[in-house]
Amino acid sequence: PSITRGVTVDIPKVSWDDIGGLNDLKKKLRQAVEWPIKHASAFSKMGVSPLRGILLHGPPGCSKTTLAKAAAHAAQASFFSLSGAELYSMYVGEGEALLRNTFRRARLAAPSILFFDEADRWEFKWQHFRWREAPVNGILVLAATNRPQAIDPALMRPGRFDLVLYVPPPNSEARYEILRVHTRNMKLGPDVNLQRIAEATDWFTGAELEGLCREAGIVALRENIYATIVTNGHFQTVKNSLKPALTKEDID
Ligand code: ATP
Repeated sequence: PSITRGVTVDIPKVSWDDIGGLNDLKKKLRQAVEWPIKHASAFSKMGVSPLRGILLHGPPGCSKTTLAKAAAHAAQASFFSLSGAELYSMYVGEGEALLRNTFRRARLAAPSILFFDEADRWEFKWQHFRWREAPVNGILVLAATNRPQAIDPALMRPGRFDLVLYVPPPNSEARYEILRVHTRNMKLGPDVNLQRIAEATDWFTGAELEGLCREAGIVALRENIYATIVTNGHFQTVKNSLKPALTKEDID
């Protein structure tokens, strides 16, 4: 990917299948992102204008970024990722210039998805960023935040984001799917029951489940560097050492 301060660009390789659970949400995003880009002429013949902005909100580590990347991959769109934290640290003029420049590049590289991470840290930049007043075909804005209540209320007004989607922490079924995704390149011992691990990992985020699988593999290797199989014992060792970061209070 090409990298300028605060922005990275590429076409991500993540696919919808790399995301466990969230089937309804994936469907909504496909309809909102993938279809208008893939079938742009059908939409315009129908006189339907595509969505321009979608806000994803929900607790950290639950795949907001990965969903945005999968949408870009599916639509084969250029993915411009802008870090809210980085922009927050810039001077107003500098941030404005970066936004304008990124927008110009996105237009040239269309279809493009502009992804704004930590959208709650953008408050004072958004006012310079009138993406809705400057209609551009083939550019979709996706923004993500862990703190929707901290977002500039002006942005939450209808007409800014066309769609506001909550990305929840995974339930047991979704956790099972996530564990399957992150163990698909591992050889699991016959005593490993992913269903049971899923049931015993309340409040774990997707990121934590990914970490659990990776660490279980590392524990197996630490035991024996020539090992190729991960057993239930390895999973349990790691699970017992982890405490999920999310609590009830994190769920909006
Ligand atoms: P943050 O708010 O902290 O930016 P996020 O909601 O954007 O977090 P991601 O960055 O998309 O979360 O996810 C972090 C990691 O967790 C990714 O590497 C991803 O592989 C994994 N992960 C999270 N949710 C899932 C899921 N549903 N299926 C598979 N992997 C997941």
